[in-house]
Amino acid sequence: MTASGSLLFLGTGASMGIPVIGCTCSVCTSESPCNQRFRPSGLLTINQKKILIDCGPDFRNQALKHSINHLDGIILTHAHHDHVAGIDELRVFYMRQKQPIPCLLSHETTTDLRTRFHYIFKDLNPANTVTSRLDLQILEGHRGTTQFLGFPIKYFSYEQAGMHVNGFRIGNFAYVSDIRKYPNTIFEDLQGVDILVLSALRFEPTPFHLGIDEAIAFANKVGCQHTWLTHIAHELDHEKTNEYLPPNVRMAYDGLEISFLPDFLLDKDSSNDPKRQTR
Ligand SMILES: [Zn+2]
Ligand SMILES: [Zn+2]
Repeated sequence: MTASGSLLFLGTGASMGIPVIGCTCSVCTSESPCNQRFRPSGLLTINQKKILIDCGPDFRNQALKHSINHLDGIILTHAHHDHVAGIDELRVFYMRQKQPIPCLLSHETTTDLRTRFHYIFKDLNPANTVTSRLDLQILEGHRGTTQFLGFPIKYFSYEQAGMHVNGFRIGNFAYVSDIRKYPNTIFEDLQGVDILVLSALRFEPTPFHLGIDEAIAFANKVGCQHTWLTHIAHELDHEKTNEYLPPNVRMAYDGLEISFLPDFLLDKDSSNDPKRQTR
């Protein structure tokens, strides 16, 4: 079997999305589809397995737009509204698939979810079969490698205004959103990454996000071939910002699909091959 990996950007906007409600700025009123952004989320496909990264308030529309009819798992970066507000919309997947959806997340995110969505947890409400149900796989500590749906995934954490956020790496691909403060070990975790998804809110840095120049510097330090910026606010016009960016850093947009090499699968496939094991 040939290993394959891809990410479909379901949303590349910041917490208010674009257009911002009631805003008449040139980006919010732009007719370019690249300037219309749902809240940040992505759909990973790894060897036919469908994994949702974050489930924000636009998830229902994103699922309808891209005909997402099945999910094998969910990865949550952190529990801010723009990344988890759509958890209730997962109910239909639970009801159709008739089993809780595996969900990879940190202890901190779990604690937050148990407050915001207390009714979906079986131990609190064992008789309830009509809400979303998640099968939590809680990450150990702030940094390491775990198996999720049979795939090795490297995880590492950084901070956004006092909240720990998780980034994830699969093969030569990494997803690093909502990053503000980070330990230097992040560059060890990202060593060898070719394709990086990185958040940048606007030109100016904010207490929650990197600014554009900081994101460029971060990408250069990682040394990856391609960086795609996401979590974009309405101060950034798609075309104009792309003109400013170096060629190896581009603005992502809703509906963009990128490929990566989950190269570990090649090793995994061969070690799982019964003919090889009996040799
Ligand atoms: Zn606007
Ligand atoms: Zn966010």
